[in-house]
Amino acid sequence: MRNVDLLVIGGGSAGMAAAIKARQEGVQDILIVEKDDNLGGILNQCIHNGFGLTEFKEELSGPEYLARFVDQVEELQIPYELNTMVIDLTPDKVVTISNKETGVSQIKAKAIVMATGCYERGAGAIQIPGDRCSGIITAGTAQKYLNIYGYMVGKRVVILGSGDIGLIMARRLTLEGAKVICVSEIMPYSNGLNRNIAQCLNDYDIPLYLSRSVSKVIGRDGRLAKVILSAVDEKMQFIPGTEMEIDCDTLILSVGLIPYISLLNYINCPLSSTKGAKVNEYMETMVDGIFTCGNCLHVHDVVDFVTDEGRLAGHGAALYLRKELPSGSVINVKPGEGIGYVVPQTIDSEMKENVTFKFRVRKPVKDMNLIIESNNKVITKMFKPVLIPSEMVMVKFPADKLKEVEGEITLRLEAR
Ligand SMILES: Cc1cc2nc3c(=O)[nH]c(=O)nc-3n(C[C@H](O)[C@H](O)[C@H](O)COP(=O)(O)OP(=O)(O)OC[C@H]3O[C@@H](n4cnc5c(N)ncnc54)[C@H](O)[C@@H]3O)c2cc1C
Repeated sequence: MRNVDLLVIGGGSAGMAAAIKARQEGVQDILIVEKDDNLGGILNQCIHNGFGLTEFKEELSGPEYLARFVDQVEELQIPYELNTMVIDLTPDKVVTISNKETGVSQIKAKAIVMATGCYERGAGAIQIPGDRCSGIITAGTAQKYLNIYGYMVGKRVVILGSGDIGLIMARRLTLEGAKVICVSEIMPYSNGLNRNIAQCLNDYDIPLYLSRSVSKVIGRDGRLAKVILSAVDEKMQFIPGTEMEIDCDTLILSVGLIPYISLLNYINCPLSSTKGAKVNEYMETMVDGIFTCGNCLHVHDVVDFVTDEGRLAGHGAALYLRKELPSGSVINVKPGEGIGYVVPQTIDSEMKENVTFKFRVRKPVKDMNLIIESNNKVITKMFKPVLIPSEMVMVKFPADKLKEVEGEITLRLEAR
């Protein structure tokens, strides 16, 4: 069995940032394992621009953004193994890997950063009624077919779900000559970033129907021929009499991303409401020495924040290997009124560094105060004019505020 100090599982934006940071902090023995045939993860297929505005103060395409990190991995001579998939993980940090040339083998690590990304909810997850025909495809898969393999996925397209990937695919397919008939969203608001609604829909006159979903798909000769869109009420039930019949050959699903955490299930790692692992302020899971970051921890809308979180996990892993992590008592951090989730879910009572709480609101709200409190005492209060679920919010919590904490910390919203 091989031994390594730090094993990074997944060579996407999060994994590369973690490995780079750990190396910069003196960890010499690092290995990145990546199941694809190149580093970079999902960004390889994101050929549009809009990446790097925070990180580099420049607007880059996905491949340009990731190339800057691949260059750093190379410069720092961090070893990586491609076409290598981690297929098992134990709590004492032994991983089993599979590689088509070297076969199945094991690696024992002193610390692990898990950065395996996320996967898309598909047709099965939302149980669309109607025929089982071809032409129904998730947005990320359509993006990969078009941008990596050069295949058009359809000519007349309906997009279900107004998440960012769906919006970006609306523009991309239009530019490639498809007719994108509409985007249909079950919620009364869009789940995409405002800039994507403007640049991907409004600029191309693609209508966005809110509170409307697919009530039926109809196939002909094995291929999608029609979708029926119906309005939904506040309980998400279809309203009879509101049906719109649309001739199309492709239905693209952009109906949510889910952290890819199957490896964590092998070690009974406690999870949080993000569907990723429960973590502390250094992104360490509740299993000693196993850290996690990026989309496998919670789904991010902007890669720059993934990179930052990867660095934090790499920093945590470096401290762990040097036995310098704080070891006080656990303070739980909980989402209160109006808040969907908070990352991290715990912090250490002897924490020396400032922590950033990341959260999403449950629904769009205006004119709110964000309250951070402990034992019903307000520690911080800040005004937030507009908050929407599609935009992750980050708020710094200075380490010196810990002295005001009694018991757990809650983040909640209150009308101003
Ligand atoms: C389809 C899609 C489009 C997106 N478009 C945008 C966009 O336009 N702009 C934006 O800012 N953000 C976008 N995002 C968000 C984007 O996911 C993040 O910004 C960021 O790239 C995620 O980085 P990551 O490292 O967490 O995950 P990923 O980039 O997904 O990397 C995870 C890596 O882990 C590897 N892996 C997984 N399991 C294993 C295993 N068992 N063994 C070995 N390797 C493994 C995968 O092959 C992959 O390379 C998009 C996300 C998706 C899913």
